Amino acid sequence: MLIIDLRRLNEAPVEVDGEIASDDPLWSESGLELASPLVVRARADGSASRGVWVRGQMSARVRSACRRCLENLELDVSEGFAVLFDATTSEDEGDLELYGFDPRSEELDLRVPLAERMMLVVPSYALCRESCAGLCDRCGANLNEGDCGCPPASSDSRWGPLQDLRSKTRE
Ligand SMILES: [Zn+2]
Ligand SMILES: [Zn+2]
Repeated sequence: MLIIDLRRLNEAPVEVDGEIASDDPLWSESGLELASPLVVRARADGSASRGVWVRGQMSARVRSACRRCLENLELDVSEGFAVLFDATTSEDEGDLELYGFDPRSEELDLRVPLAERMMLVVPSYALCRESCAGLCDRCGANLNEGDCGCPPASSDSRWGPLQDLRSKTRE
């Protein structure tokens, strides 16, 4: 369950162990496509009056696209997270790790904060490989498949003499 019972939490820290299914409607709004459920293991600490810390690990297999060459790929994403629910914060303050909640409520739903955290970290994972050459910024060819034949990208005249020198030494 990714919903914390606040009455239980008032007595002792609560272990959180749950999943968000890959076809959960939550993901359709996030723009993320999951190839596996999001699995969460965490521990919640605190109380409704003082605020609630949730710290743990989440992992999922995600369908994405390489941020350099745009090829489709699947990523194993595994991230530690720490979220603070602060009863004195009435609104989310743009800081994704800090959430407000109503101290009179009986439970705390972790699903939206975790989905948001996932949206934030996935792009930084999205590389088909470390050495991905990306796309040619002139013709758009995938440079991993070979040289597209476009002339060197630099049209900056300061580099002109250097380029002449380079092409001479290459001959
Ligand atoms: Zn790539
Ligand atoms: Zn090109």
